[in-house]
Amino acid sequence: MALIVQKYGGSSVSDAASIERVADRIVATRRAGNDVCVVVSAMGDTTDDLIDLAQQITAAPPQREMDILLTAGERISMSLLAMAIHERGVTARSFTGQQAGVITDDVYGKARIIDVSPSRITETLEQGAVAIVAGFQGVNQAANDVTTLGRGGSDTTAVALAAALGADVCEIYTDVDGVFTADPRIVPAARKLDTIGYDEMLEMAACGAKVLMLRCVEYARRFGVPVHVRSSYSTLTGTLVTKENPMEQPIIAGVAHDRTEAKVTLVDVPDVPGKAARIFEVVAAAGVNIDMIVQNVSVVGTGKTDVSFTLPAADGDAATKALEAAREEIGYDEVRYDDTIGKLSLIGAGMKSHPGVSARLFKALSDAGINIEMISTSEIRISVVTSVDLLDQAVRAVHTAFDLDSDQDQAVVYGGTGR
Ligand code: ADP
Ligand code: ASP
Ligand code: MG
Repeated sequence: MALIVQKYGGSSVSDAASIERVADRIVATRRAGNDVCVVVSAMGDTTDDLIDLAQQITAAPPQREMDILLTAGERISMSLLAMAIHERGVTARSFTGQQAGVITDDVYGKARIIDVSPSRITETLEQGAVAIVAGFQGVNQAANDVTTLGRGGSDTTAVALAAALGADVCEIYTDVDGVFTADPRIVPAARKLDTIGYDEMLEMAACGAKVLMLRCVEYARRFGVPVHVRSSYSTLTGTLVTKENPMEQPIIAGVAHDRTEAKVTLVDVPDVPGKAARIFEVVAAAGVNIDMIVQNVSVVGTGKTDVSFTLPAADGDAATKALEAAREEIGYDEVRYDDTIGKLSLIGAGMKSHPGVSARLFKALSDAGINIEMISTSEIRISVVTSVDLLDQAVRAVHTAFDLDSDQDQAVVYGGTGR
């Protein structure tokens, strides 16, 4: 008998029939003698639909109200799931994030969990019932206000609860069979990984592989929670995310992609000490996190250079406005904004001890006729920026060039809209 936390994503509970299917699975796990705590996401694309609805009312919704609105999605799915489990003769009780003891800071829209005190969940499990917790939400205790954890945040709720409850495993049920060498929606030849280390999974998540939220992987690594990513539509074993085995580090774990970033270029920045510091102070003061940075060699004679950086496209407006306001002080000529970029990242813990990985990556892109606009590297990752129109093609070319293509069946995508 084990204590299992199971998280079901939006595509796994997108309609009544799916909720019933998930309920069958939960009941079977409970009847097998396990204690089961379930974390559930909002049904299908409910969160996106609620965001669209708010946008019809106002372009700038107050963040506090936005969080209350978005947490409604998970309340719907948690109560329906509890009803479906009852219907099958097993007691289940649903809890909001606040009731489950998920305490966060006060940053609406991307709150961080600072504590989890799941006494009501423990009580429920001790009584032999199934506890169902609304994912993606918590409470800022100081203000007693509802917060959300950022998109994909139910993954983090699940891992945080698994850590607090001392669960044996945190199972993340989704619409694909596990973590693949690339997004199966783009690369049908992607291969399922049996295991992946926390570090590689962190890079994959940070580089856009939304199968797991970045924070959830950080949390799992910090608390040593074993995470099993698998499909709610099949009984196949999925991918175990765990401490890496240093003996078996593959050169490449996978290829991730991200189309949510944009590029800002400041043209003709005076190439003197202090300018880069000032540019990024201005951007940071606007609350914007940046990703890659490229500074060109300055033009002889003018002593001026171009500075480009990438950032989440959602923050593009805030960053360009702040930079425009500081144009005279910084002394640049023009700010250019491009949101038609895509980022491809090659990730692998083994690449740090293998020469030639970058050369092979660049060759694959050049053979495919794809121009590289920016490059950045870490010990276990190489990222390049390309035109967004060529991103899918780039991902497939690189996947093939690193011999990652499966020679077996194509990867299955069981559901979801990929939104
Ligand atoms: P859920 O609704 O279950 O939280 P998500 O849509 O957040 O599901 O995440 C699952 C999706 O992640 C998959 O459908 C797939 O398109 C995408 N994905 C991106 N990269 C990968 C990868 N490397 N392996 C598996 N899935 C990936
Ligand atoms: N429903 C939230 C979202 O769509 C949280 C989640 O699904 O994990 O982002
Ligand atoms: Mg998700």
